[in-house]
Amino acid sequence: MNKLIITAALTGSRITREQTPHIPITPEEIVQSAIESWNAGASIVHIHVRDPETGLGCQDLSLFEAVVNPLREKTDLILGLTTSGIPGKNLPTEQRLAPLKLKPELASFDAGSINLGNNLFANPPDFLEEAAIQMKKTGVKPELEVFDLGMVMTCLRMAQEGKIDPPLHFQLVLGTPYGAPATPKALLHLREHLPGNATWSVLGAGKGGLPMAMMAMIMGGHVRVGMEDTIYYAKGVLAKSNAQFVERISRIAKEYGRDIASPAEARKILGLT
Ligand code: ZN
Repeated sequence: MNKLIITAALTGSRITREQTPHIPITPEEIVQSAIESWNAGASIVHIHVRDPETGLGCQDLSLFEAVVNPLREKTDLILGLTTSGIPGKNLPTEQRLAPLKLKPELASFDAGSINLGNNLFANPPDFLEEAAIQMKKTGVKPELEVFDLGMVMTCLRMAQEGKIDPPLHFQLVLGTPYGAPATPKALLHLREHLPGNATWSVLGAGKGGLPMAMMAMIMGGHVRVGMEDTIYYAKGVLAKSNAQFVERISRIAKEYGRDIASPAEARKILGLT
């Protein structure tokens, strides 16, 4: 079976220090957490940055630079930058796409709109068109984040129209309150609709994290873990670091007999040049 790509989603945009003291917030903390995750076996880090005033997600380019530059210097990690900003706040398109200026190898592409909490996470067609155009122009591969089957169909349609290029890479986001549930049935259903040459990874939000990771592992997919997706390592037990999640997946993969992809191997698997 192909090697397993582990993505660490380090911080997201919403988890606060009140919820867990272990969430990385400053650029230095995010860099440190990325390096620990890399040492534990992650080949990709999914990066958000936080507004120093509010502590919540923002799209400030200088903050992204403060994370990206040291990681490029010290690691060979594949960097995936978010374009979501803070879901539900729906920042202007220009701000959302600002991180593309740093030419990361991957950037998130949320392939449709969905309710999150009491808010709408808006990804209307004109945003998707603009994101696709700018990613193509800057040579950034879209990481197609899909929360339900409609979003998969959106990606397939955009690929057919030549707006996004194969091989497509999907991140199946399962277990959000209004999206597809973190169940084997939902995962199999989404997987069935992906093109044969696509690569895919799974994240299960909250308690769906570990079961979905194990499903992905045996099905030949890839795995995303980290404190953006759950702050709990086990029921009622806060994770102390992102690396802790990566270490667990690495351990299970080793026992199962599926090797972990290095960043260089992950680049090959994903068709990154
Ligand atoms: Zn994210």
